[in-house]
Amino acid sequence: MSILFDNAHLLQQDGTAIPSVVAVEGTAIRYAGPKSGLTLRMRKTIDCKGGIIMPGLVNAHTHLGMTLFRGFCNHLPLEEWLQKVWALEDLLTEDDVYWATMLSIMEMTAAGATCFLDMYFHMEGVARAVADSGMRGVLSRGLQSLGAPGNRVQEARALYADWHGAGGRITTMVGPHSVYTCDEDMLKQSIALADEMDVGLHIHLCESRQEVADCQKAYSCSPIELCEKLGLFERPVVIGHGVELTEADMDILAQHPVTVAHCPGSNLKLGNGIAPVAALQQRGINVALGTDSAASNNNLNVWEEMHLASLLQKYTARDAGALPAAQALEMATFNSYQALNIDGGLSEGNVADLVLVRTDKPVFMPGLDAAADLVYAAGCGDVAITMVAGRIVYDHGQWPTIDIEEVSRNIERIAARLFP
Ligand SMILES: [Zn+2]
Repeated sequence: MSILFDNAHLLQQDGTAIPSVVAVEGTAIRYAGPKSGLTLRMRKTIDCKGGIIMPGLVNAHTHLGMTLFRGFCNHLPLEEWLQKVWALEDLLTEDDVYWATMLSIMEMTAAGATCFLDMYFHMEGVARAVADSGMRGVLSRGLQSLGAPGNRVQEARALYADWHGAGGRITTMVGPHSVYTCDEDMLKQSIALADEMDVGLHIHLCESRQEVADCQKAYSCSPIELCEKLGLFERPVVIGHGVELTEADMDILAQHPVTVAHCPGSNLKLGNGIAPVAALQQRGINVALGTDSAASNNNLNVWEEMHLASLLQKYTARDAGALPAAQALEMATFNSYQALNIDGGLSEGNVADLVLVRTDKPVFMPGLDAAADLVYAAGCGDVAITMVAGRIVYDHGQWPTIDIEEVSRNIERIAARLFP
């Protein structure tokens, strides 16, 4: 299928939007630029009516299976919250996780996300949902030392063997959960596994003060220092959170191929604080954006994270110039593409992961600054079309690749079992 997005404005990396067309053929962008330069003939034309086409957003830290727990326990600190959630997770089946992931994909694509980085279990269910829905996903099987760690490592191996590279939309990473659930041996095993598969790692680090204090007590060093000592940062790593980082921690991270997936919504709601994003970026450390799970956030809306990220840095620095809108957009797009090895962005040859935003709405008037309008005035409700790998997965309130009624029926059935 070849599709021409006609009469659009193309969001540039500097935050401006210029009149353009975008031609998509198969899974890739064939042309993006002024209409006068278009020489291709496309089978289908979509009139964008002057709307903005932007690169697809990436949710760089999720646990999609947990969307089943949305609203289950609010107003609790991380440690108490974890205890409640872990008890419920024992009841989950792969089928539950499949439907939770489908529901999550509906929510994310409607909010302009085209890819996510997940860590959970029953990852076969997550992978099947990604394959069935047309979404793009980077999947990591969460690893821990408790119980039967060997089985989890086997599942991580199987996830890689069965799904890494599948359909050009799924890749995998190794996911040691954290330094408080993985002992040194498990962290070392995780690194060895990532070496063996030649993939990156995905881990929670420095999410709360308690985590850092416990690590200091057990190892006499910070979680970042522990991971560096073990060699974890020798491979590309995505760190979920990175709230409680010292200057020394950030100096370590700056020397390695590390991305911090900043999750402001979840960090604020669990009362964990605000990550030092400006200090990370000053050191040249890559910062992406994630929602964390819908059990803590309580949504999977990366748009809201862009808004929060920008405002929070202005607030902490008491500086209106901190984290401008175009930079927030870059964090949700290009910084994640870099972390997850995706040829994203609106230029020829890149994957056709894009979002059409309707601008015939009050929040886009008078239309003086596209990036500022998108981040501060608009919201996910202004997304008209979301395309992943050349396929439209969300279209004006409809999901062409997903049977909505089937998803809601199954979510209702599972919720009735989990919350009798
Ligand atoms: Zn998390």
